[in-house]
Amino acid sequence: MKNETFLTTGNTVLLALAKGVCPICSLLRAFQKELIERLQPTAASTACNYHAWAIATSAPASSAAEIFLAMLRVTSSGDVWNERIDCNLCGSIREHEIARLREFVNEMQRGRFAQWMERHGTLCRFHGASLQSMVNDEDARIIAKVMKSSEEQLEELLESFAAKARSGGHAGGGILGRAAEFLVAQRGLTR
Ligand SMILES: [Zn+2]
Ligand SMILES: [Zn+2]
Repeated sequence: MKNETFLTTGNTVLLALAKGVCPICSLLRAFQKELIERLQPTAASTACNYHAWAIATSAPASSAAEIFLAMLRVTSSGDVWNERIDCNLCGSIREHEIARLREFVNEMQRGRFAQWMERHGTLCRFHGASLQSMVNDEDARIIAKVMKSSEEQLEELLESFAAKARSGGHAGGGILGRAAEFLVAQRGLTR
């Protein structure tokens, strides 16, 4: 059987392991999507630029209207949000991110997980760097190796995509999303 994914049950970091994608980014993308699609009218009273637009396009209409009304009333005096500090959704996502990073660090203690990561894993620059500051030296070495091979793979794929694009081909554009994720992590994440 081809070991394309590392499927098992009961653990989200394990479930998110797949070749070519950062597992932390995958989990955050899913978490963020669900958070917005199921947003309750009282779940957010502040939003950054990115999440205000995400609410406008993807939250349930009644919740979106209530949230925007509350925001309008609070800011009607002409104040502008300090969006980096205030966005409720950024806050929830950051909490989720920290929990998933910790879970990853714990999983690295299991030989099979670390082995799979070392051979097949991908990590974006941001999560790779965050994890490196949280693990022991041996795991930091594995994470550095994963980041390096992610970068090399991406470079190769981008070069071949760029060559095709120069001759007018547009197939394989998914690589651009992978590149963006590798460089800046999943969209909507604040630092
Ligand atoms: Zn990531
Ligand atoms: Zn936000």
